[in-house]
Amino acid sequence: PTFSVAEIRKTFLDFFASKGHTIVPSSPLVPGNDPTLMFTNSGMVQFKDVFLGTDKRPYTRATSVQTCLRAGGKHNDLENVGYTARHHTFFEMLGNWSFGDYFKRESLKWAWELLTEVYKLPAEKLLATVYEEDDEAYDIWTQEIGLPPERVIRIGDNKGGRYKSDNFWMMADTGPCGPCSEIFYDHGPHIAGGPPGSPDEDGDRFIEIWNNVFMQFDMAEDGSVKPLPAPCVDTGMGLERLAAILQHVHSNYEIDLFQALIKAAARETHIDDLETPSLKVIADHIRATAFLVADGVIPSNEGRGYVQRRIIRRAIRHGYKLGQKTPFFHKLVKDLVAVMGDAYPKIREQEARITEVLKVEEERFFETLANGMDILDSALAGGAKVLPGDVAFKLHDTYGFPLDLSNDVARERGLSVDEAGFHAAMEQQKSQARAAGKFKMDRALEYTGAANAFTGYTQLSEAAKVV
Ligand code: ATP
Ligand code: MG
Ligand code: MG
Ligand code: MG
Repeated sequence: PTFSVAEIRKTFLDFFASKGHTIVPSSPLVPGNDPTLMFTNSGMVQFKDVFLGTDKRPYTRATSVQTCLRAGGKHNDLENVGYTARHHTFFEMLGNWSFGDYFKRESLKWAWELLTEVYKLPAEKLLATVYEEDDEAYDIWTQEIGLPPERVIRIGDNKGGRYKSDNFWMMADTGPCGPCSEIFYDHGPHIAGGPPGSPDEDGDRFIEIWNNVFMQFDMAEDGSVKPLPAPCVDTGMGLERLAAILQHVHSNYEIDLFQALIKAAARETHIDDLETPSLKVIADHIRATAFLVADGVIPSNEGRGYVQRRIIRRAIRHGYKLGQKTPFFHKLVKDLVAVMGDAYPKIREQEARITEVLKVEEERFFETLANGMDILDSALAGGAKVLPGDVAFKLHDTYGFPLDLSNDVARERGLSVDEAGFHAAMEQQKSQARAAGKFKMDRALEYTGAANAFTGYTQLSEAAKVV
């Protein structure tokens, strides 16, 4: 059968509800009160304190469809968008949790039951990984579920860079963590890539769809771990990756929801070829930026607001690459509402506001984009391999080009940016600004000093703090 994304969400929640789980709504992209995390990067974020034992819920089993953003901090996939079949900045994670209730056996068996009996994925195309020392999970897969041993792969924690993948999951650099077992789908030999743990595992043939984390520890800043009050389960499956399989396509970008957004991006940029990579980037970024606005993040020059600004400007630059010279990006909000507004009414309710926030940012960036691109183009022309740091800085400082945007352009042409030079130029400008600020302050003090020696003194100590 083929499933729409709406059917996939509902089937998932119904399945876990039938196994005694309480359905919990998605939390916002901005985690409440958690300085260790920039954005909600997985379904467990809203339950972090429940794992740590400092928050109690009226249930011990939960399930949700969580909106996630991986564009800053740990688990950053911004640079993967447009390059792999499976990564987005914004995506939806299907999850189920046990808070000191069931553990490995139920978790893995239910995952298998849902995938093979409900969604009816062909069992012979599925593989599993387990943490290298986790004999218990290995035995559940091979002896109880019946997966052939050659399709159960042991993978370590990536210490020393042995593997690219990593079967020890952490939400952030500190906090709840534990060994995990992941389920992969083999899209077939016509696609490049090796199985998990192999040298070419980064390809898109074997795609990771579901991570089952056995939450057991709380990691401190120094890397030491102490056991959680009770062993817990935390799982996460990418909705778009599962949808690709169930809709018989390879890439997440080919599923129903994304095709609608890609067509809208093509309409606004007047492009016929729906395979054009920039359309995927634009389709990805409209989701991320619209949901960020809905969750209260507006473009700014620092913190979350700067991530928001970077994503919007990246999308606009891709539109510019396709020939757009005037604002277009905000016009995709209505298309997003059409495909995601039923599942997330907040974007429908805030449609006008989201459109306006994006439009303002777009108008602003279009004022400097063309001139900035001319500078970038000429700096990258004529066989240069690296964009000089001072040019990248000038683009940043005068034309509003975030470093990652210049990087994105350079990478498209097989070139790179001198990032160390960029940071050095930025430092130099900061120290010049500090020196100039001190000069102004001294002049101000001379003046107030004449009028009132005492105020001058207070200001002097304030000035000392500033410099
Ligand atoms: P990958 O190795 O493919 O980057 P991951 O190991 O980083 O994935 P997890 O942190 O284990 O992913 O997250 C659980 C699940 O969420 C993954 O198995 C995948 O289905 C989905 N997922 C993770 N990152 C993304 C993303 N950037 N876009 C879409 N889905 C994702
Ligand atoms: Mg990843
Ligand atoms: Mg992985
Ligand atoms: Mg994983």
